[in-house]
Amino acid sequence: MTTVWVLGDQLSRRRGPLAADPDRVLMVEAAEFARRRRYHPQKLVLVFAAMRHRRDDLRADGVEVVYERAETFADGLDAYFEQYPGDDLVVQRPASHGAADRLRRLVEDRGGSLDVVPNANFLCSPAQFDDWQGTEPPFDHESFYREMRRETGYLVDEDGNPEGGEWNYDDQNRETPPADYESPPVPSFEDGDHVPALREWVADEFDTWGDPTGFDWPVTRGQAERALDDFLTHRLPAFGPYEDAVLADDWHLEHSLLSSALNVGLLDPDEVVEAAIEAYRARDDVPLNSVEGFVRQILGWREFMRHVYRLEMPELASANQLGADRDLPALYWDADATDMACLSSAVGRVYDRGYAHHIERLMLLSNFALTYGASPQALNDWFHGGFVDAYHWVVTPNVVGMGVFGTDAFTTKPYASSANYVDRMTDHCADCAFDPDATVGERACPFNSLYWDFLATHEDRLRSNHRMGLVYSHLDDKRDAGDLAAIRERARHVRRRAAAGDL
Ligand code: FAD
Repeated sequence: MTTVWVLGDQLSRRRGPLAADPDRVLMVEAAEFARRRRYHPQKLVLVFAAMRHRRDDLRADGVEVVYERAETFADGLDAYFEQYPGDDLVVQRPASHGAADRLRRLVEDRGGSLDVVPNANFLCSPAQFDDWQGTEPPFDHESFYREMRRETGYLVDEDGNPEGGEWNYDDQNRETPPADYESPPVPSFEDGDHVPALREWVADEFDTWGDPTGFDWPVTRGQAERALDDFLTHRLPAFGPYEDAVLADDWHLEHSLLSSALNVGLLDPDEVVEAAIEAYRARDDVPLNSVEGFVRQILGWREFMRHVYRLEMPELASANQLGADRDLPALYWDADATDMACLSSAVGRVYDRGYAHHIERLMLLSNFALTYGASPQALNDWFHGGFVDAYHWVVTPNVVGMGVFGTDAFTTKPYASSANYVDRMTDHCADCAFDPDATVGERACPFNSLYWDFLATHEDRLRSNHRMGLVYSHLDDKRDAGDLAAIRERARHVRRRAAAGDL
């Protein structure tokens, strides 16, 4: 007799211990999890609703499910072991650092045993990653991704060569949509049995940040399958070309919106990747650059981040190689605290649904924090609380490493940019109070002075980086022309205004 303890982000029935028809399942819905930080209310509704629906499906299929609603895991386990003293539990290795040991202690302290088995939410095993990349940084995503392609055979021929001759088609994936562009509408999901009550409970019970009334994320397996199907049918074809674009009137563009379902196990990474490849083979409207770009996000980046986190924790969480220590300015909690159209829009989107797409996360929300000098940990807390797909294993490497260059374990240079990039890849600047072409003066886009000031501040560390040579030659030009002092004064002014909640 084996009992599978199913955690809230381990809901797959295709992979892992639930696939093997367990005799009994234990689920503990611990309210304390939701009190740890100021989460987005929709994130809490999502996790609890997905757990309750999974419980209902299992019971409908005749599986005994013990579902404990408790304040803490310890309380839930107390109740469980009163009913089943000395039981042997199986759990998938949690992705969060140190969690497996904590769970084992909790179970053993109550007279039970806990068998920790591999986490089925990922495709690359720890041993495989360590064999390819070693256990010490620097880690290299591109070579990892190629190994994953060869290993799985996804988009690779019998001789191990990549489909179409290239491993990566990103040079075709930097287009901006035409002015009148409209992306296909995204699906809506029925509230179902649990969402309405949870929406109310979460709003009453927890200290949250985000719109408590809206909610339109998949919380059942059926809804997640529909979300996948809708993406493949309507958005996969243009996923590649418009992957890096940001539009003021379109919050999702061609993105899949699948991360929240993938990260709780309502969808599995292998089925998503295989379905995308099947669509590419079966249809003639899916170009290779789109399917390869999509496969890379899941087979490459998602897996890579999990292992970087595994190997770099616990140092990763507090990494701060640039010594950035400012608090996050108010505009991260209040979209009206800035006139910057792009940032106000991105923050508003996070507030509305706990989601912003990758370029908004990287080139707007992180880029501003990076050049402003906000602490990586403050930004990580904000992302972790604010997004429906955020879990410590995925948010931390993305924010601390990719977002603000708190570590160089896998990124060789910071993703810092001026308004030039924002103007090129978004349509926000046309309607913004700030001028993307100006660096000083009241109307100058804050991204410009912050960018040059950031480069000047970290010159000792970054100038020697060969990938930064060109930007430092531009900084030299500004210094030679006598412009740098005024630019840095403007950056100080921008920081004061932002810190005062009035940028
Ligand atoms: P799509 O653009 O459609 O991409 C497809 C899938 O690829 C995603 O669903 C996701 O599963 C995977 N993926 C793509 N990039 C990454 C990545 N860098 N790391 C991990 N998976 C990736 N992703 C999260 O799942 N949770 C987070 O908390 C999170 N925080 C982020 C914070 C920052 C600062 C940055 C730069 C990125 C973050 N990402 C995070 C990665 C990525 O932005 C999101 O996975 C993606 O935007 C989710 O939307 P989507 O499902 O529409 O993705």
